[in-house]
Parts: sequence; C-alpha cells; structure tokens
Amino acid sequence: MSAPIESFHDLGLPEALLTALAEIGYETPSPIQAACIPPLLAGRDVLGEAQTGTGKTAAFALPALARVTLDLCRPQVLVLTPTRELAIQVAEAFQKYAHHLPGFHVLPLYGGQSMVVQLRQLQRGAQVIVGTPGRVMDHLERGSLVLDDLRILVLDEADEMLRMGFIDDVEWILTHTPAERQTALFSATMPEAIRRVAHRHLRAPQEVKIRAATATVAAIRQCYWQVRGVDKLDALTRILEVEDDFDAAIVFVRTKTATVELAERLEARGYAAAALNGDMTQGLREQVIERLKNGALDIVVATDVAARGIDVPRISHVINYDIPYDTEAYVHRIGRTGRAGRRGSAILFVAPREMRMLKAIERATGQPIEAIALPSREKIAGRRVAQFRQQIVDTLEHEDLAFFIDVIGRIEKEACFSAREIAAALAYLATRERPLQVEETGTGWELATADPLEATQSERRPQGNRKEILARQRAYADGVLTRYRIEVGRQHGATPREIVGAIANEGGIEGRYIGQIHLFDDYSTVELPKALPPELLGLLKRIRVRQRALAIRALADGQTAQDRSRARTSRSQSASRQADEAGTAAQPRPRTGTAHKRPRKS
Ligand code: ADP
Ligand code: MG
Repeated sequence: MSAPIESFHDLGLPEALLTALAEIGYETPSPIQAACIPPLLAGRDVLGEAQTGTGKTAAFALPALARVTLDLCRPQVLVLTPTRELAIQVAEAFQKYAHHLPGFHVLPLYGGQSMVVQLRQLQRGAQVIVGTPGRVMDHLERGSLVLDDLRILVLDEADEMLRMGFIDDVEWILTHTPAERQTALFSATMPEAIRRVAHRHLRAPQEVKIRAATATVAAIRQCYWQVRGVDKLDALTRILEVEDDFDAAIVFVRTKTATVELAERLEARGYAAAALNGDMTQGLREQVIERLKNGALDIVVATDVAARGIDVPRISHVINYDIPYDTEAYVHRIGRTGRAGRRGSAILFVAPREMRMLKAIERATGQPIEAIALPSREKIAGRRVAQFRQQIVDTLEHEDLAFFIDVIGRIEKEACFSAREIAAALAYLATRERPLQVEETGTGWELATADPLEATQSERRPQGNRKEILARQRAYADGVLTRYRIEVGRQHGATPREIVGAIANEGGIEGRYIGQIHLFDDYSTVELPKALPPELLGLLKRIRVRQRALAIRALADGQTAQDRSRARTSRSQSASRQADEAGTAAQPRPRTGTAHKRPRKS
C-alpha cells in the first residue's frame, strides 16, 4: 500500500462528511478506509479483504455517500449484508455519517419485518438500501424495489453470506442490477467461491488486503485460563470481579440452550445478563443489543451466529466460555471488543484436551495468548474490602447521617458495645449477600494434575498455599479409595464412561484415582479417594452428567455402606461389577421398592 494516510482530509471526501466524522470523533482513517476510499470515490470496483473491526463500513459508506445525488430519492446504493442485525447497524452508520446531508434517507430491508411497513417505506424512497439477500430479492421480484438508478452495489461480509447459503441469491441480485454499476466486495476471508463471484461480477477491481492480526487484535489483550477443577461459571465470576476495566462482556457458548442457561445462572448471581441466540425473535435480539448498548445489560451470552458483527463500543470483554470451533470464529468473536479504538480483553477457557486449538489460534493470529491464573481468594477479598471501604467513605461524605449517629449512640450506651463492635455487626449485615470473606467454592489449582505445561504455568498458581497443596495431593494420592454415591443412574442415560469423564475433566481428578463405577437405576456409586478435600467434594456435587448434578456424598463409612448396599443389592451388585469389568452395558436392576425411590427433581 501507499504511504500512510494521516487524515480524512487527504482522501477527497466532501466537507459535509468530514464535518460529521469530526463530530463522531474519528481521527484518522483506518488502513482499509485509507486504501478503499480513493478508488471507490474514483468509481473503481474494489475487492477488500479485512478482518472484522477494521472499519469496513465507513470504507464503503463514506465514498458511497459522496457519490449519491440527494435530490433523487431513489435507490442509488445497495448494500447486501448477511444478517438483519448487520443491516440495521450498517444503516445506522450511514445515517450517522450522513448527518449533514439534507434529504438523505437510508432504508434497511430484512426478513421478519412487516412487508406492509417496508412497502410504505420503499414508496417514500431512499438513496441507500441496506438489506439481507432474501428480502432484497423478494422486493426486486415484486417490483417494489427498483434499481434502475443503482450506481453502487456493496457486498458486505461476503464470506458470511456464503457460509449462510446466500451466495446464489447474491449472484441473482448481481445479475438483476444495472451492468454499469460500481461494485465493492468486502470479506474477512477470501475463499475460492467468493473469488469466483468477484471475478464474474467485478470489473478490474482494486484489490485491498489488510493483514489479519495487526488491525484486529492489536488493541485486544488475549489470555486463556485452563479449565481445571473450578466450575467454569465460578471461574468466570471470579475473573470478572477483579478485571479492572470491566464495562460489558459478551460470553460465547456453543449452543442456544447454553446461552439461556448461563444467562440465567449469571442473573441468579446478580449480573445484568441476557441470552442472545438464533431462536429468539429478531425483535427480541435487537432489544438485547439495545439494552447492552444503553447499559441496562452488562453481559450478553451469545452464540457465534447471533453475535456476528455486533458493534457495541462498551464491550470491554469477550469471554470464550466454550472454545470456538475454528480460528476464524475466534477472530470474529474477539472482534466484538476493542471497538472504536478502545481497549479490550479476550479471555478464553481451554479444557486440557483443547490445548491444540489454542495453539492453532495462536498460529493463525500470529499472537501469543497468555495463560492466566484465577484470582486468588485473597485478591477477591481484597477487592471487595476496598469497594466496601469506598462505599463507606462515599456515604460519610455525601449523606446526612445525623439520625443514624444518634441511633448508634443510643445502642452504644444501652447495650454496652463499642462503636467498633456495632460497626462490625453492621458490616456483617450489609455484606451478607456478598460476603467480604470469600469462601473457596472450587479447588482449581489445588488438585491440578501434572501435565507438560506445568513448568510454564507455575507462576499462575497462587504461591501462598503451595505447601498445603502438595500435602493434600500426597494425602490424596496415598489414600484408600472409598465409595461415594452420585445421583445419576442408568435411567438418566448415564454411562460409566461419561461419569469418569465428568469427574476427571471437570473435577480435575486423574483417572487413576477413580475406581469402580456401578450404575443403578436412579443413582450410581463410584470409588474415589477417601481423603477428598471438602472443596473438591463441593465441586463434584455440582458437576452435571446428563443434566443432573452429581450431588456426590461419601457413603456413611466406606465399609458399612458397602455392606448395606451389598445386603440390599447383593446379587445385582456383583452382577453389575461383572458387567462393568466385562465392559458391557448390561446391568441388572439393583433394587426395587418405593422406600428408596427418590423424589425426582423436575
Ligand atoms: P468492520 O465492518 O470491519 O467489522 P466496522 O465498520 O463495524 O468494522 O467498525 C468497527 C468500529 O470501528 C465501529 O465502532 C466504528 O465506528 C469504528 N471506526 C471505524 N472507522 C473508524 C475510524 N477511522 N476511527 C475510529 N473509529 C472507527
Ligand atoms: Mg462490518
């Protein structure tokens, strides 16, 4: 590319647009803007490849706006986008940049919106149409959208349109627009199918390619936490609690159900959180994004597709709660933060078996992703105490406390407590919901198993209780196995493999410490070290298999419990052991009788 362009003034844009840009606060054109605006202004076709977050919208919107005739209220620019959200966002961007263009109209067209409304709006006219391929085709076929005056056609996020299966529609639209139009195609990646479309429909395009890593992730701090021991939700809340610059977050999960589940669990912990997924009506989705924008929500739990292209500048954190399927998805995800020149953080949760994906992502982005430790209990407690202290100081400074001083004075006198003691009681009451002293809910590092990364990770562990950790690990390794009961059984569809998997992966207990597993109808038993520390037991209780919490508990005393269970299920028990050992799934029914029937949780 040519010498770096320092100012929008060097690009040949009209004064009205420069004024708007100055008001919006853009200082310098981004690389893709600097490279695309001049050729587009000159009427050339452009084939632009740049990652999300590099400023592609302005790269085509500004030159397009420079070239529309405001007196003619008919479609002169058509932008195709893969999703409704993007159509709205791009339309909003046009509106923003066109602030000083009197008589300018932009119209978003997408499926799901009332046809009647769209027809009326089309009749009123607009110079710029931004639409999804399906709905645009619809209107072209009905004759409600007439493109006789079309001068510029933009394909935005072409690779995504390809991925979503719109490419035939896009080509159909391309063949139904005036041949002399100018065309710009933007894409985060340039797969062969997109190149073919470009080849067929663009005339001697100026090719612009902005290197992936630089623009996209430069402002983003990337780190990962290796999932072990601690429940991911606990890890998430702990991390968020100590992140200094936390404003809002998008949390990525893999499934639609997970968006709802996790959002609910976060809400239950007091976060303003909501789900965003493809099952929600589009109106609802927009509402969620709007609420995130205006601060009514701080966390949105989303799937990749639903969050694609979202541009909410206050998103300070992207949490990859579930690792993405490919490196591209990762880049798209983290592009939701660090918007508009702000700083952003991307945190990735990586299970041990997903380390390979982590390496692939590092290779693809050309940037190392730094390992982090969960904040220690002390750090969280320190943070809470500091906040509490600040609240007290603020209250003392800004509130009229005369009445309360009087009340406390009376208590002090009548009940013979010192003011400090009374203050302590009040502090206790005030922080009951969110205790200043943090209880250890998971184990995390304590039971981490040796792995090849150990050496590089040692600095991630809290230093203080290292001795204790080792002692515990030893106790646990030397310990005898005993039998525990878990509340998931054959009728829930559990298999021994799944149970071992859950205990090993989520509980961080090495396979060699997991003994025999016996499946029964509505519960199972599993042998684990007798010396399991209480935190780990707490964690194991909450681990889920087949949607059911294990609710693990040691059978009263290893020996008696076994005897009891043998007495009750003698025949079947041994049969089941044989079945386990033979590796078959055939299991006898260990017991019947309603006395043991547990009420089924809904
Ligand atoms: P892309 O389409 O490449 O993903 P966007 O066009 O959505 O990127 O722009 C990403 C963010 O950067 C938006 O918030 C936009 O307002 C902001 N932005 C774009 N160009 C500039 C610029 N020159 N200076 C500052 N911020 C910009
Ligand atoms: Mg874009």
